[in-house]
Amino acid sequence: MSTDAEQDVVARVKGFIEPIFVGVAPDGKTLNGVGPEDWRMIQEGYACPECLAIFDTYTITCPVCKHQRDVLADIPPPELWLDHLKERANPTEHGQPQTFDQAMRGLHDVESIPLSKLRKRRR
Ligand SMILES: [Zn+2]
Repeated sequence: MSTDAEQDVVARVKGFIEPIFVGVAPDGKTLNGVGPEDWRMIQEGYACPECLAIFDTYTITCPVCKHQRDVLADIPPPELWLDHLKERANPTEHGQPQTFDQAMRGLHDVESIPLSKLRKRRR
């Protein structure tokens, strides 16, 4: 007899990554040194960064150690949002709201013609 959790592990875990080295980070967390291929599996959600279990599919919660993946980090925000956040954090002149006159003065390649030079309006 095995529990559901055990069956889950058997069904979804293909094996474990063999770390190159194991150390302890200054904050007490375990540091697993893995090769570039293994690191890619961890980054893409096909292996657990904690217990190094290898999954058969993209997995959010590790069935072995219950480590929760940061799902939001897997979904890249649109470039437009990032630009907006960058602009807010470090506003440039470009990002400042301008009046119409300020905006027009900023356009240097616009030819300015005095009103008197404009062709008379035909009646
Ligand atoms: Zn795990």
